[in-house]
Amino acid sequence: MHHFAVIGSGPAGFYTAEALSKTYGERASIDILDRLPVPYGLIRFGVAPDHQSIKAVAKRYEKVALSPGVRFLGNVHLGGDVSIEELLHYYDAVILATGAPHDRRLEIEGDDLPGVIGSAAFVGWYNGHPDFADLNPPLDVEHAAVIGNGNVALDVARILSKTPAEFTGSDIVAHALEALANSAIRTITVIGRRGPHQIAMTPKELGELGHLEAATPEVDAADLPPPDTDSSLDPGQRKSVQHLRDFAAAGPDGSKPKRIVFDFFAKPLAIEGNGRAERVVVERTRLRPDGSAHGTGETYTIPAGLVVSCIGYITPPIPGVPYDPNLGRFSNQGGRIGERLYGVGWARRGPTGTIGTNRPDGYEVAEQVAALFPPDGEASERAGPAGLDRLLASRGCEPIQFQDWQKIEAAEVAAARAGNPREKMVRVDDLIRASRD
Ligand code: NAP
Repeated sequence: MHHFAVIGSGPAGFYTAEALSKTYGERASIDILDRLPVPYGLIRFGVAPDHQSIKAVAKRYEKVALSPGVRFLGNVHLGGDVSIEELLHYYDAVILATGAPHDRRLEIEGDDLPGVIGSAAFVGWYNGHPDFADLNPPLDVEHAAVIGNGNVALDVARILSKTPAEFTGSDIVAHALEALANSAIRTITVIGRRGPHQIAMTPKELGELGHLEAATPEVDAADLPPPDTDSSLDPGQRKSVQHLRDFAAAGPDGSKPKRIVFDFFAKPLAIEGNGRAERVVVERTRLRPDGSAHGTGETYTIPAGLVVSCIGYITPPIPGVPYDPNLGRFSNQGGRIGERLYGVGWARRGPTGTIGTNRPDGYEVAEQVAALFPPDGEASERAGPAGLDRLLASRGCEPIQFQDWQKIEAAEVAAARAGNPREKMVRVDDLIRASRD
């Protein structure tokens, strides 16, 4: 028997557990630990609530969690309830799948003003992450700015624009649904420091903006490069840029109350306001031949009482684990961080790619682990789950196991508004209580 611990129950953690489970069958115990009492990480708290088809991958992870030898242990805090050193003592290998849950800071003047919010917090708020249940973003303002030209910026702009009816079938949490229904926001400016050819938005997600009930996307045709230059783009990017061209050609739709305005070639310089965000100061940029942006010296302001920065995420460091502060993730070589210690997913690669990108990651690390501990090799002398259970019990830590989570899930499904899949509980205490019922 071999013993493995996977830290983090998002996509990267589950694909790794799946790969280990397939490799070792019943010859390994695989414990998946999570700080929160609920599994699925990014699937539950990152993927947009109106993108349920993407969230459906959780069914695959459920199968993994219910496989022989696999346990989910929620409510176990690495660094609080158990340390990396202790895990390495009990398990043959430890795989960090802790994701990149913290916002990369804008690092411009005024980025700490009230009303300036990172996307991890804002997305966490509408997705019911317990850490952000009390965020209360200011929605009593007419203008919002979304900084960044990636898919998260699109998610945020779309969620800010939707009517309550458009959230039918989603699992947006009640507090966000209510706040958004009463939102005064009418203009959402999406600020990109480079141009239409440099966006990091995928076509399906960008195309959704063209079908909103109460909002229209606006693109200034003058920002678009000559159409024949689109042939230099890869097919996906070409489709995305075509959406921008279509938005520009359609022009503003006065019949809809909200506008999503794309402001390209605009580099944020500062956020200003009297005690709270009121406007973003940007500098007009031009592209160099290599596609990077340089400031032209021309500045202007964009009104914004809410500023959501969607400029990427970082992995928080763990004491004793090699970390690259510039890249905001664990230092590793092909997933290997140190002796018997590995990283997968965003904690390994940084915050890029789709959910599926984590699959090969997990499988590759499982192969490395199998090379070190051949499945039909000698059994481990480490204590494995029994050792961890004793340690956690001695510290008064009561993990939430997968069967406990299934009780939470049943309660959330039972509480769903008509037409919606679930009503998430947003307080850790409530989640734990539901798990014990
Ligand atoms: P991203 O794709 O890396 O986009 C980040 C954006 O922020 C880029 O446009 C970048 O511009 C900009 N940016 C970075 N630093 C900036 C600064 N200091 N000032 C102004 N702009 C700045 O990251 P993301 O949107 O957070 O998405 C993370 C990953 O999740 C991506 O792989 C994304 O595709 C994926 N995702 C997918 C979906 C979906 O498929 N539905 C939904 C959400 C997220 P530059 O290009 O100029 O650096």
